[in-house]
Amino acid sequence: MTAERIDSKTKPRIMTYEASSEGDWITGLHPMDDLLRGERLPHIWCQGCGLGTALTSFISSLKWLEKRKGWDLDKVAVVSGIGCTGRIAGYVRLDSFHTIHGRAIPFATGLKIANPELKVIVISGDGDIAGIGGNHFIHAARRNLGITVVCVNNFNYGMTGGQVGPTTPHEARAVTAQYGNYEYPFNLPYLAAASGASYVARWTTLHARQLDWTLRKALTHPGFSFVEIIAPCSTAYSRWNPEGKGLDPENLRRRGLEVMKHYQRVGKTDHGLHPKDAHIKVNERGEIIEIIEGEFLLETRPDFEEAMNQRVEIAEKYWQREKAALDKRVSLSIKKKKVPRTEIQLGGFGGQGIMSAGKIIGMAAAVFNNLEACFTQSYGPEARGGAAGSQVIISSSPIHHPHLTEPTSMIIMSQGAYDKYVDTLAIDGVLLIDNELVILPEDHRTDIKTLGIPATKIAEEAGNNRAANTVMLGFWTAVEGIVDQKAMEESIAESVPPKTVDLNLDVFRTGYQEGLAQG
Ligand code: SF4
Repeated sequence: MTAERIDSKTKPRIMTYEASSEGDWITGLHPMDDLLRGERLPHIWCQGCGLGTALTSFISSLKWLEKRKGWDLDKVAVVSGIGCTGRIAGYVRLDSFHTIHGRAIPFATGLKIANPELKVIVISGDGDIAGIGGNHFIHAARRNLGITVVCVNNFNYGMTGGQVGPTTPHEARAVTAQYGNYEYPFNLPYLAAASGASYVARWTTLHARQLDWTLRKALTHPGFSFVEIIAPCSTAYSRWNPEGKGLDPENLRRRGLEVMKHYQRVGKTDHGLHPKDAHIKVNERGEIIEIIEGEFLLETRPDFEEAMNQRVEIAEKYWQREKAALDKRVSLSIKKKKVPRTEIQLGGFGGQGIMSAGKIIGMAAAVFNNLEACFTQSYGPEARGGAAGSQVIISSSPIHHPHLTEPTSMIIMSQGAYDKYVDTLAIDGVLLIDNELVILPEDHRTDIKTLGIPATKIAEEAGNNRAANTVMLGFWTAVEGIVDQKAMEESIAESVPPKTVDLNLDVFRTGYQEGLAQG
């Protein structure tokens, strides 16, 4: 017979099973049809697996929210990672994303931030959420990000054969822990709550009604909501552990059902219990003998988006004030001129103000000369007294690459910096040195222009040898002519300690005059 794909949105049908050469297809009217991708059925899950129940509960909660709360399901996005549970994203007829292992939450974070209107739901397994993606889980909870995370916990990595995972109970068996798990598992509700989740609950798949009710609450909760669903893994986990042992291995459906019943028998509902005490107890054989379930935490506090928007408002007010000051500064700037990308390397040792000098140039260009500028800095492994370098790029066009490729201008204030940088200067580049601190070797490059000034001596004579960098800046400004003298002076006045402004401006002008004379 020919397989027919379901398009139940437009064509409801009577439920039938049809066999085709491509496999069996289920078609027909089913209460969940409009939210299931029938063309993806039959599903890959084993008989007796709890995932079918988890999916049914999830879909019925969405349908309830659509019908009773007017939810627009076109604004719902489902994200999953890898594993048996991860297949859910492929089965729901919603905008869904089956992402890479452990990365469902970062993907969901991006979706939510880019489009806060979306209701973003992560539904994945314990290995994906608490193992591979554990770090993302705690940080999304910490931020109280407005998403819902549903973790179907079957206590092992089921899809890959039943390896021990982050929630495998202590002493329980798994294919990689055949003599008992010697690690201790996460208590997921406690982990979520301790990390900052504002809604936390747990049910087993046999608590279908409670699960529906909880999922509706979790999905409408404004903040990070977390629901753990304990589900039997009839094929892998149950095979190794007392709950499923002795049951007919050929009859997985029965095994799954018995395990589910076991979970229900040992389940104890305790709403409002501190998540720390929401344990899953096992005996010495690793058999689960108590599962605490219920709604453990419900808190209302600003979610990530709200908290961020509050801060944006504060920043905007602050910016309005700053902008007024900035407008005043920019009005000082001389009309924007054309400057090709110009790379400047500054070098010396720690304490000479090499970083400050780079910053002053960058600020003069960007703030007072209305140009684009990019400033980066690098220290040697030592602190004060060790090698120090800073780099500035100036251009009248946007700067796309922030690192120097071949500087054409260089300010050097130590022998070490000369040795380190001189060979990187472009042919015909300009090298400015403090000529009392840098001795040029006999084989000094002749393909560059080299000019010197006793900057440290000038600064010392002016009363502060720490202003030697400002002397070099004056010298550089006059020789290169990239940034205006006025812009540099404004930048210096804003950057140096108030008491030293006059001294710095004096030595800057001395350097500038020397630059005009030599340049
Ligand atoms: S391996 Fe376990 S979790 Fe995966 S589909 Fe089968 S029963 Fe379900």
